[in-house]
Amino acid sequence: MLTEYEEAHLCPKCDEPGALVNKRRSRSPNAMPGTMVELLECKNDRCPDYTPPTRVGVGTIIPGDRFRWSIQVNADGTIPPKGSGATGPKAFESVPGSSRVAQQARDRLAYLAAADEHGGESREATEIARDIGW
Ligand SMILES: [Zn+2]
Repeated sequence: MLTEYEEAHLCPKCDEPGALVNKRRSRSPNAMPGTMVELLECKNDRCPDYTPPTRVGVGTIIPGDRFRWSIQVNADGTIPPKGSGATGPKAFESVPGSSRVAQQARDRLAYLAAADEHGGESREATEIARDIGW
C-alpha cells in the first residue's frame, strides 16, 4: 500500500516511480504557506509518453523527451487531493504546453539539420518546413 505521497510520484502514464527534477515553493496565491511544487520526470523507457533521442542528418541528435508532471506537496507532507478546492481548483499543476513546445523545437531542429546537410532549398528541408507550416 502506497502513501498518497508515493502514489503522486508515480508516472500518470505508466505507473513507474518518477525522478525528482526540481522542487520549488508554490507560487499559487491559494496555496498554504510552505506548500512546495515538485517537478517529476518519468525515467521509464517503456513509458507511452517517452520519445527516444533521434539522430537527424549527419551529426545532429535531437534529445529524447520524457514525460514530466508536477505535484503539490503541503507543508505537512500531504498531497492535496485533486479538485479538493483546499488549495485552489488545480492541486495538480500542469507544465503548460511542454509537449507542444518540445515538438516545435524538434521540428525546427529537424529542419536545421536537413538544411545543414542538403542545403536550405533542398527537398528534405523544404518538406519539413512545409510540415511545420513555414
Ligand atoms: Zn511514465
